[in-house]
Amino acid sequence: MINKQIFSDMKEQLSNKALFEQAKQHAFDYIDQVEQMPPFPADDALANLSVFDEPVPETIQDGSTILEQLHRYGGPATTTNTGGRYFGFVNGNTITTAAAARWMTDVWDQNSALFVMSPIAGKLEQVVERWCVDLLGLPDDTALGLVGGTSVANMCGLAAGRNAILQKNGWDVNAQGLFGAPPIRVIVNEQSHSSVWKGLALLGLGNERVEKVPADDQGRMLVDQLPELDSNTIVILQAGHVSSGSFDHFDQICERANRAGAWVHIDGAFGLWVAASKSLSHLTKGFEKADSWAVDGHKTLNSPYDCGIVLCKDRVALNQAMAATGSYIQKSDDRDGMFYTLDMSRRARSIELWATLKYLGRQGVEQLMDGMVERAQQFGALLGQEGFQIQNEIVFNQCLIKCDSPEETAATLAHVQKSGVMWCGGSVWQEEPAIRLSVCSWATTAEDVRVSVQALVQAREMARGSLATHK
Ligand SMILES: *Cc1c(COP(=O)(O)O)cnc(C)c1O
Repeated sequence: MINKQIFSDMKEQLSNKALFEQAKQHAFDYIDQVEQMPPFPADDALANLSVFDEPVPETIQDGSTILEQLHRYGGPATTTNTGGRYFGFVNGNTITTAAAARWMTDVWDQNSALFVMSPIAGKLEQVVERWCVDLLGLPDDTALGLVGGTSVANMCGLAAGRNAILQKNGWDVNAQGLFGAPPIRVIVNEQSHSSVWKGLALLGLGNERVEKVPADDQGRMLVDQLPELDSNTIVILQAGHVSSGSFDHFDQICERANRAGAWVHIDGAFGLWVAASKSLSHLTKGFEKADSWAVDGHKTLNSPYDCGIVLCKDRVALNQAMAATGSYIQKSDDRDGMFYTLDMSRRARSIELWATLKYLGRQGVEQLMDGMVERAQQFGALLGQEGFQIQNEIVFNQCLIKCDSPEETAATLAHVQKSGVMWCGGSVWQEEPAIRLSVCSWATTAEDVRVSVQALVQAREMARGSLATHK
Protein backbone atom coordinates (compact mmCIF):
# COMPACT_ATOMS: atom_id res chain seq x y z
CA MET A 1 0.00 0.00 0.00
CA ILE A 2 1.42 3.39 -1.00
CA ASN A 3 1.51 5.86 1.85
CA LYS A 4 1.18 9.29 0.27
CA GLN A 5 1.61 10.97 3.62
CA ILE A 6 5.15 9.60 3.97
CA PHE A 7 6.25 10.77 0.55
CA SER A 8 4.84 14.26 0.97
CA ASP A 9 6.49 14.58 4.36
CA MET A 10 9.87 13.62 2.87
CA LYS A 11 9.42 16.09 0.05
CA GLU A 12 8.43 18.84 2.45
CA GLN A 13 11.50 18.26 4.64
CA LEU A 14 13.77 18.63 1.66
CA SER A 15 12.17 21.71 0.18
CA ASN A 16 11.73 23.84 3.26
CA LYS A 17 15.22 23.05 4.60
CA ALA A 18 14.21 23.70 8.21
CA LEU A 19 15.97 20.53 9.33
CA PHE A 20 19.24 21.73 7.86
CA GLU A 21 18.83 25.06 9.64
CA GLN A 22 18.15 23.25 12.88
CA ALA A 23 21.14 20.94 12.40
CA LYS A 24 23.32 23.96 11.76
CA GLN A 25 22.16 25.59 15.00
CA HIS A 26 22.81 22.42 17.01
CA ALA A 27 26.21 22.02 15.42
CA PHE A 28 27.13 25.62 16.21
CA ASP A 29 26.02 25.13 19.82
CA TYR A 30 28.33 22.11 20.01
CA ILE A 31 31.24 24.06 18.56
CA ASP A 32 30.67 26.84 21.10
CA GLN A 33 30.50 24.42 24.03
CA VAL A 34 33.14 21.87 23.21
CA GLU A 35 36.00 23.54 25.10
CA GLN A 36 33.90 23.56 28.29
CA MET A 37 32.68 19.99 27.93
CA PRO A 38 34.37 17.14 29.79
CA PRO A 39 36.65 15.31 27.32
CA PHE A 40 34.86 12.07 28.22
CA PRO A 41 31.10 12.13 28.89
CA ALA A 42 29.96 12.73 32.46
CA ASP A 43 28.06 9.95 34.28
CA ASP A 44 24.64 11.54 33.74
CA ALA A 45 25.31 11.85 30.00
CA LEU A 46 26.14 8.16 29.87
CA ALA A 47 23.04 7.25 31.89
CA ASN A 48 20.91 9.33 29.52
CA LEU A 49 21.96 7.15 26.58
CA SER A 50 19.15 4.86 27.66
CA VAL A 51 16.72 7.24 25.91
CA PHE A 52 17.86 5.56 22.70
CA ASP A 53 16.57 2.18 23.88
CA GLU A 54 13.32 2.36 21.96
CA PRO A 55 11.53 -0.15 19.80
CA VAL A 56 11.66 0.49 16.06
CA PRO A 57 9.13 3.26 15.31
CA GLU A 58 5.92 2.17 13.56
CA THR A 59 5.78 5.05 11.13
CA ILE A 60 7.55 8.26 10.15
CA GLN A 61 8.57 10.53 12.97
CA ASP A 62 9.03 14.24 13.27
CA GLY A 63 12.49 15.10 11.91
CA SER A 64 12.94 18.06 14.20
CA THR A 65 12.35 15.89 17.27
CA ILE A 66 14.94 13.40 16.02
CA LEU A 67 17.59 16.09 15.65
CA GLU A 68 16.63 17.50 19.02
CA GLN A 69 17.08 14.09 20.66
CA LEU A 70 20.46 13.67 19.02
CA HIS A 71 21.58 17.11 20.08
CA ARG A 72 20.34 16.82 23.64
CA TYR A 73 21.47 13.28 24.44
CA GLY A 74 23.99 12.49 21.71
CA GLY A 75 26.20 15.57 21.92
CA PRO A 76 26.94 15.21 25.66
CA ALA A 77 27.85 11.55 25.11
CA THR A 78 30.66 12.36 22.70
CA THR A 79 34.36 12.44 23.42
CA THR A 80 35.70 15.87 22.58
CA ASN A 81 38.05 14.98 19.75
CA THR A 82 37.63 18.50 18.44
CA GLY A 83 38.73 20.14 21.68
CA GLY A 84 42.31 20.58 22.82
CA ARG A 85 42.46 18.18 25.78
CA TYR A 86 41.54 14.79 24.40
CA PHE A 87 44.69 12.64 24.23
CA GLY A 88 43.11 9.20 23.93
CA PHE A 89 44.14 6.53 21.43
CA VAL A 90 45.52 8.35 18.41
CA ASN A 91 42.27 10.15 17.71
CA GLY A 92 42.62 13.21 15.54
CA ASN A 93 40.70 16.46 15.49
CA THR A 94 39.23 17.75 12.25
CA ILE A 95 40.26 20.70 10.13
CA THR A 96 37.32 23.12 10.03
CA THR A 97 37.40 23.65 6.27
CA ALA A 98 37.34 19.89 5.72
CA ALA A 99 34.49 19.34 8.16
CA ALA A 100 32.53 22.12 6.46
CA ALA A 101 33.28 20.71 3.00
CA ARG A 102 32.11 17.30 4.12
CA TRP A 103 29.01 18.80 5.64
CA MET A 104 28.17 20.68 2.47
CA THR A 105 28.86 17.75 0.18
CA ASP A 106 26.99 15.23 2.33
CA VAL A 107 23.87 16.49 0.61
CA TRP A 108 25.43 15.31 -2.66
CA ASP A 109 25.45 11.73 -1.33
CA GLN A 110 28.06 10.52 -3.79
CA ASN A 111 29.21 6.96 -4.32
CA SER A 112 32.88 6.93 -5.29
CA ALA A 113 33.16 3.37 -6.60
CA LEU A 114 33.37 4.36 -10.26
CA PHE A 115 34.07 7.59 -12.14
CA VAL A 116 30.68 7.39 -13.80
CA MET A 117 29.04 7.27 -10.39
CA SER A 118 30.72 10.50 -9.31
CA PRO A 119 33.06 12.38 -11.62
CA ILE A 120 33.90 14.91 -8.90
CA ALA A 121 34.86 12.19 -6.41
CA GLY A 122 36.95 10.43 -9.06
CA LYS A 123 38.67 13.64 -10.06
CA LEU A 124 39.56 14.56 -6.49
CA GLU A 125 40.84 11.04 -5.83
CA GLN A 126 43.32 11.55 -8.66
CA VAL A 127 44.29 14.94 -7.30
CA VAL A 128 44.87 13.73 -3.73
CA GLU A 129 46.91 10.84 -5.11
CA ARG A 130 49.36 13.27 -6.69
CA TRP A 131 49.33 15.56 -3.67
CA CYS A 132 49.97 12.81 -1.10
CA VAL A 133 52.78 11.34 -3.20
CA ASP A 134 54.31 14.80 -3.53
CA LEU A 135 53.94 15.78 0.15
CA LEU A 136 55.33 12.49 1.40
CA GLY A 137 58.11 12.34 -1.19
CA LEU A 138 57.19 8.92 -2.58
CA PRO A 139 58.16 7.63 -6.04
CA ASP A 140 56.26 9.15 -8.98
CA ASP A 141 53.24 7.18 -10.05
CA THR A 142 52.74 5.63 -6.63
CA ALA A 143 49.07 4.62 -6.51
CA LEU A 144 46.63 5.68 -3.79
CA GLY A 145 43.44 4.06 -2.58
CA LEU A 146 40.98 5.55 -0.08
CA VAL A 147 39.65 3.23 2.60
CA GLY A 148 38.01 3.50 6.00
CA GLY A 149 41.24 3.49 7.99
CA THR A 150 44.74 2.09 8.26
CA SER A 151 43.47 -1.36 9.29
CA VAL A 152 42.06 -1.77 5.79
CA ALA A 153 44.92 0.15 4.18
CA ASN A 154 47.38 -2.32 5.74
CA MET A 155 45.37 -5.18 4.31
CA CYS A 156 45.33 -3.63 0.84
CA GLY A 157 49.09 -3.07 0.83
CA LEU A 158 49.79 -6.57 2.13
CA ALA A 159 47.38 -8.09 -0.38
CA ALA A 160 49.22 -6.32 -3.21
CA GLY A 161 52.53 -7.68 -1.89
CA ARG A 162 51.18 -11.19 -1.44
CA ASN A 163 49.73 -11.26 -4.96
CA ALA A 164 52.82 -9.79 -6.58
CA ILE A 165 55.10 -12.35 -4.94
CA LEU A 166 52.88 -15.24 -5.92
CA GLN A 167 52.53 -13.91 -9.46
CA LYS A 168 56.32 -13.89 -9.79
CA ASN A 169 56.13 -17.57 -8.89
CA GLY A 170 53.58 -18.21 -11.63
CA TRP A 171 50.71 -18.48 -9.17
CA ASP A 172 47.50 -16.48 -9.63
CA VAL A 173 46.17 -16.26 -6.09
CA ASN A 174 42.91 -14.62 -7.15
CA ALA A 175 42.10 -17.67 -9.22
CA GLN A 176 43.84 -20.44 -7.33
CA GLY A 177 43.65 -19.30 -3.74
CA LEU A 178 46.32 -19.98 -1.15
CA PHE A 179 45.94 -23.74 -0.72
CA GLY A 180 48.95 -25.29 -2.41
CA ALA A 181 50.49 -21.91 -3.23
CA PRO A 182 54.26 -21.40 -3.01
CA PRO A 183 55.06 -20.29 0.55
CA ILE A 184 55.49 -16.62 1.37
CA ARG A 185 57.68 -15.57 4.26
CA VAL A 186 56.45 -12.69 6.38
CA ILE A 187 58.84 -10.82 8.65
CA VAL A 188 57.27 -8.53 11.23
CA ASN A 189 58.35 -6.23 14.01
CA GLU A 190 57.14 -8.21 17.03
CA GLN A 191 55.58 -5.00 18.36
CA SER A 192 53.42 -4.33 15.31
CA HIS A 193 49.98 -2.81 15.71
CA SER A 194 47.06 -5.17 16.23
CA SER A 195 45.65 -4.29 12.81
CA VAL A 196 48.73 -5.83 11.18
CA TRP A 197 48.10 -9.17 12.91
CA LYS A 198 44.44 -8.97 11.96
CA GLY A 199 45.32 -8.23 8.34
CA LEU A 200 47.75 -11.14 8.19
CA ALA A 201 45.07 -13.43 9.58
CA LEU A 202 42.47 -12.28 7.05
CA LEU A 203 44.91 -12.61 4.15
CA GLY A 204 45.65 -16.23 4.97
CA LEU A 205 49.24 -15.43 5.88
CA GLY A 206 48.65 -16.33 9.51
CA ASN A 207 49.88 -14.35 12.44
CA GLU A 208 51.83 -17.11 14.14
CA ARG A 209 53.67 -18.63 11.20
CA VAL A 210 55.36 -15.28 10.55
CA GLU A 211 58.93 -14.49 11.65
CA LYS A 212 58.79 -11.98 14.50
CA VAL A 213 61.80 -9.77 14.91
CA PRO A 214 62.55 -8.51 18.42
CA ALA A 215 62.44 -4.78 19.10
CA ASP A 216 64.65 -2.42 21.08
CA ASP A 217 63.50 -0.50 24.15
CA GLN A 218 61.57 1.95 21.97
CA GLY A 219 59.80 -0.76 19.98
CA ARG A 220 61.97 -0.42 16.87
CA MET A 221 62.84 -3.59 14.99
CA LEU A 222 66.39 -4.66 15.84
CA VAL A 223 68.20 -4.45 12.53
CA ASP A 224 70.86 -6.98 13.52
CA GLN A 225 68.13 -9.50 14.32
CA LEU A 226 66.59 -9.25 10.87
CA PRO A 227 66.80 -12.67 9.21
CA GLU A 228 68.18 -13.26 5.72
CA LEU A 229 65.70 -11.86 3.19
CA ASP A 230 64.68 -13.27 -0.18
CA SER A 231 62.33 -12.38 -2.99
CA ASN A 232 59.45 -14.40 -1.53
CA THR A 233 59.35 -12.29 1.60
CA ILE A 234 57.15 -9.49 2.88
CA VAL A 235 58.71 -7.28 5.56
CA ILE A 236 56.33 -5.21 7.68
CA LEU A 237 57.66 -2.09 9.39
CA GLN A 238 56.08 0.79 11.23
CA ALA A 239 56.27 4.56 11.14
CA GLY A 240 54.93 5.48 14.56
CA HIS A 241 54.80 2.78 17.25
CA VAL A 242 51.37 2.98 18.81
CA SER A 243 52.77 3.42 22.33
CA SER A 244 56.18 5.05 22.00
CA GLY A 245 55.70 6.74 18.63
CA SER A 246 59.06 5.34 17.44
CA PHE A 247 59.98 4.71 13.80
CA ASP A 248 61.71 1.62 12.43
CA HIS A 249 65.11 1.99 10.73
CA PHE A 250 63.73 2.17 7.21
CA ASP A 251 66.92 3.16 5.48
CA GLN A 252 68.92 0.09 6.44
CA ILE A 253 66.06 -2.39 6.34
CA CYS A 254 64.65 -1.22 3.00
CA GLU A 255 68.15 -1.28 1.53
CA ARG A 256 68.53 -4.94 2.44
CA ALA A 257 65.02 -5.75 1.29
CA ASN A 258 65.56 -4.03 -2.05
CA ARG A 259 68.73 -6.01 -2.65
CA ALA A 260 66.92 -9.26 -1.89
CA GLY A 261 63.83 -8.32 -3.92
CA ALA A 262 61.56 -8.53 -0.86
CA TRP A 263 58.35 -6.48 -0.53
CA VAL A 264 58.30 -3.89 2.27
CA HIS A 265 55.05 -2.59 3.73
CA ILE A 266 55.06 0.28 6.23
CA ASP A 267 52.22 0.85 8.69
CA GLY A 268 52.39 4.60 9.18
CA ALA A 269 48.88 5.22 10.48
CA PHE A 270 49.69 8.41 12.35
CA GLY A 271 53.43 8.74 11.80
CA LEU A 272 53.89 8.78 8.03
CA TRP A 273 53.02 12.46 7.69
CA VAL A 274 56.25 13.48 9.44
CA ALA A 275 57.85 12.87 6.05
CA ALA A 276 56.27 16.20 5.07
CA SER A 277 58.16 18.09 7.79
CA LYS A 278 61.74 19.24 7.24
CA SER A 279 62.57 19.00 10.92
CA LEU A 280 61.03 15.52 11.38
CA SER A 281 61.66 13.75 8.09
CA HIS A 282 64.86 12.21 9.46
CA LEU A 283 62.46 9.78 11.17
CA THR A 284 61.25 8.42 7.85
CA LYS A 285 64.63 8.46 6.10
CA GLY A 286 64.72 5.79 3.41
CA PHE A 287 61.02 4.91 3.74
CA GLU A 288 60.47 5.76 0.08
CA LYS A 289 62.34 2.56 -0.77
CA ALA A 290 59.42 0.50 0.52
CA ASP A 291 56.72 -0.91 -1.75
CA SER A 292 53.50 -0.04 0.07
CA TRP A 293 52.44 2.27 2.86
CA ALA A 294 49.34 2.80 4.98
CA VAL A 295 48.45 6.11 6.61
CA ASP A 296 45.35 7.70 8.07
CA GLY A 297 43.90 11.06 7.17
CA HIS A 298 41.82 11.01 10.34
CA LYS A 299 44.65 10.83 12.87
CA THR A 300 47.49 13.36 12.84
CA LEU A 301 46.47 14.96 9.54
CA ASN A 302 43.14 15.89 11.19
CA SER A 303 40.86 15.08 8.28
CA PRO A 304 37.34 14.06 9.31
CA TYR A 305 36.85 10.40 10.28
CA ASP A 306 36.65 7.47 7.91
CA CYS A 307 39.72 8.36 5.89
CA GLY A 308 42.48 5.79 5.49
CA ILE A 309 44.99 5.76 2.68
CA VAL A 310 46.89 2.93 1.03
CA LEU A 311 49.82 3.84 -1.18
CA CYS A 312 51.48 1.33 -3.48
CA LYS A 313 54.51 1.81 -5.70
CA ASP A 314 53.32 -0.91 -8.08
CA ARG A 315 49.97 0.37 -9.34
CA VAL A 316 49.24 -2.79 -11.28
CA ALA A 317 49.86 -4.98 -8.24
CA LEU A 318 47.35 -2.98 -6.19
CA ASN A 319 44.77 -2.95 -9.00
CA GLN A 320 45.15 -6.68 -9.55
CA ALA A 321 44.78 -7.45 -5.87
CA MET A 322 41.62 -5.30 -5.74
CA ALA A 323 40.28 -6.49 -9.07
CA ALA A 324 36.56 -7.11 -9.48
CA THR A 325 34.41 -7.84 -12.46
CA GLY A 326 30.72 -7.67 -13.14
CA SER A 327 28.60 -7.28 -16.24
CA TYR A 328 27.26 -3.94 -15.00
CA ILE A 329 30.62 -2.42 -14.05
CA GLN A 330 31.40 0.47 -16.36
CA LYS A 331 35.10 1.21 -16.36
CA SER A 332 36.34 4.59 -17.46
CA ASP A 333 39.68 6.04 -18.53
CA ASP A 334 39.43 8.20 -15.43
CA ARG A 335 39.55 7.24 -11.80
CA ASP A 336 37.55 4.18 -10.78
CA GLY A 337 38.23 4.14 -7.04
CA MET A 338 36.96 0.63 -6.39
CA PHE A 339 40.00 -0.93 -8.11
CA TYR A 340 42.22 0.54 -5.42
CA THR A 341 40.33 -0.73 -2.36
CA LEU A 342 38.27 -3.56 -0.93
CA ASP A 343 35.04 -1.59 -1.06
CA MET A 344 32.78 -0.99 -3.96
CA SER A 345 30.25 1.59 -2.75
CA ARG A 346 31.96 4.15 -0.57
CA ARG A 347 31.43 7.69 0.61
CA ALA A 348 33.38 10.25 -1.38
CA ARG A 349 36.29 10.35 1.05
CA SER A 350 38.39 12.12 -1.55
CA ILE A 351 36.39 15.31 -1.04
CA GLU A 352 37.33 15.92 2.57
CA LEU A 353 40.88 14.70 2.09
CA TRP A 354 41.23 17.14 -0.78
CA ALA A 355 39.74 19.97 1.35
CA THR A 356 42.13 19.08 4.21
CA LEU A 357 45.21 19.16 1.99
CA LYS A 358 44.08 22.16 -0.02
CA TYR A 359 43.50 24.14 3.18
CA LEU A 360 46.74 23.11 4.88
CA GLY A 361 49.10 23.12 1.96
CA ARG A 362 52.69 22.03 2.38
CA GLN A 363 53.40 24.47 5.19
CA GLY A 364 50.19 23.67 7.02
CA VAL A 365 50.94 19.95 7.13
CA GLU A 366 54.45 20.70 8.33
CA GLN A 367 53.19 23.08 11.01
CA LEU A 368 50.64 20.49 12.17
CA MET A 369 53.32 17.82 12.67
CA ASP A 370 55.84 20.22 14.23
CA GLY A 371 53.13 21.50 16.60
CA MET A 372 52.35 17.97 17.77
CA VAL A 373 55.96 17.13 18.57
CA GLU A 374 56.34 20.44 20.42
CA ARG A 375 53.27 19.74 22.58
CA ALA A 376 54.32 16.14 23.26
CA GLN A 377 57.79 17.28 24.29
CA GLN A 378 56.22 19.92 26.53
CA PHE A 379 54.24 17.12 28.18
CA GLY A 380 57.47 15.19 28.67
CA ALA A 381 59.32 18.15 30.17
CA LEU A 382 56.54 19.19 32.58
CA LEU A 383 55.68 15.65 33.66
CA GLY A 384 59.35 14.89 34.21
CA GLN A 385 59.59 17.91 36.53
CA GLU A 386 56.58 16.58 38.42
CA GLY A 387 58.31 13.27 39.04
CA PHE A 388 56.54 11.09 36.46
CA GLN A 389 58.81 8.61 34.71
CA ILE A 390 59.00 9.25 30.99
CA GLN A 391 59.24 5.94 29.16
CA ASN A 392 59.91 6.94 25.60
CA GLU A 393 62.10 9.17 23.49
CA ILE A 394 59.53 11.74 22.44
CA VAL A 395 60.33 11.81 18.74
CA PHE A 396 56.82 12.63 17.59
CA ASN A 397 53.42 12.92 19.27
CA GLN A 398 53.39 10.20 21.93
CA CYS A 399 54.38 10.68 25.55
CA LEU A 400 54.38 7.51 27.61
CA ILE A 401 54.62 7.77 31.40
CA LYS A 402 54.60 5.71 34.56
CA CYS A 403 54.20 6.62 38.23
CA ASP A 404 56.18 5.14 41.13
CA SER A 405 54.47 1.74 41.04
CA PRO A 406 52.21 -0.17 38.64
CA GLU A 407 49.31 0.26 41.11
CA GLU A 408 49.87 3.99 41.30
CA THR A 409 50.01 4.25 37.50
CA ALA A 410 46.75 2.34 37.08
CA ALA A 411 44.98 4.33 39.79
CA THR A 412 46.26 7.66 38.43
CA LEU A 413 44.94 6.77 34.99
CA ALA A 414 41.55 5.85 36.45
CA HIS A 415 41.35 9.16 38.33
CA VAL A 416 42.46 11.34 35.45
CA GLN A 417 39.94 9.70 33.13
CA LYS A 418 37.25 10.91 35.53
CA SER A 419 38.79 14.36 35.99
CA GLY A 420 36.63 16.10 33.40
CA VAL A 421 39.72 18.14 32.50
CA MET A 422 41.59 15.89 30.09
CA TRP A 423 41.34 12.33 28.88
CA CYS A 424 44.04 9.87 27.90
CA GLY A 425 44.33 6.12 27.64
CA GLY A 426 46.55 3.46 29.04
CA SER A 427 48.99 1.02 27.56
CA VAL A 428 51.24 -1.75 28.71
CA TRP A 429 54.91 -0.92 28.44
CA GLN A 430 57.61 -3.39 29.39
CA GLU A 431 54.96 -5.54 30.99
CA GLU A 432 53.66 -2.85 33.30
CA PRO A 433 50.78 -0.39 33.00
CA ALA A 434 51.62 2.96 31.49
CA ILE A 435 49.73 6.15 30.71
CA ARG A 436 49.78 7.14 27.07
CA LEU A 437 49.33 10.74 25.99
CA SER A 438 48.80 11.14 22.33
CA VAL A 439 48.84 14.64 20.89
CA CYS A 440 46.75 14.52 17.73
CA SER A 441 44.75 17.72 17.62
CA TRP A 442 45.67 20.92 15.83
CA ALA A 443 43.79 22.73 18.61
CA THR A 444 45.95 21.65 21.56
CA THR A 445 47.70 24.67 23.03
CA ALA A 446 50.60 25.02 25.46
CA GLU A 447 47.98 26.02 28.05
CA ASP A 448 46.00 22.82 27.40
CA VAL A 449 49.16 20.85 28.12
CA ARG A 450 49.83 22.77 31.36
CA VAL A 451 46.27 22.27 32.58
CA SER A 452 46.41 18.60 31.66
CA VAL A 453 49.67 18.07 33.53
CA GLN A 454 48.05 19.61 36.61
CA ALA A 455 45.13 17.19 36.23
CA LEU A 456 47.60 14.30 36.12
CA VAL A 457 49.39 15.57 39.23
CA GLN A 458 46.07 15.83 41.04
CA ALA A 459 45.00 12.38 39.88
CA ARG A 460 48.25 10.97 41.23
CA GLU A 461 47.58 12.65 44.59
CA MET A 462 44.18 10.98 44.71
CA ALA A 463 45.73 7.68 43.69
CA ARG A 464 48.32 7.94 46.44
CA GLY A 465 45.59 8.80 48.95
CA SER A 466 43.42 5.84 48.04
CA LEU A 467 46.35 3.40 47.86
CA ALA A 468 47.52 4.52 51.32
CA THR A 469 44.14 3.93 52.92
CA HIS A 470 43.90 0.48 51.32
CA LYS A 471 47.24 -0.63 52.77
C1 LIG B 1 45.35 3.51 14.46
C2 LIG B 1 46.41 2.61 13.93
C3 LIG B 1 46.12 1.60 13.02
C4 LIG B 1 44.70 1.29 12.61
O1 LIG B 1 44.16 2.39 11.92
P1 LIG B 1 42.57 2.61 11.83
O2 LIG B 1 42.45 3.87 11.06
O3 LIG B 1 42.08 2.73 13.24
O4 LIG B 1 42.01 1.42 11.13
C5 LIG B 1 47.15 0.85 12.53
N1 LIG B 1 48.42 1.08 12.92
C6 LIG B 1 48.75 2.03 13.80
C7 LIG B 1 50.19 2.23 14.18
C8 LIG B 1 47.75 2.84 14.34
O5 LIG B 1 48.06 3.81 15.21
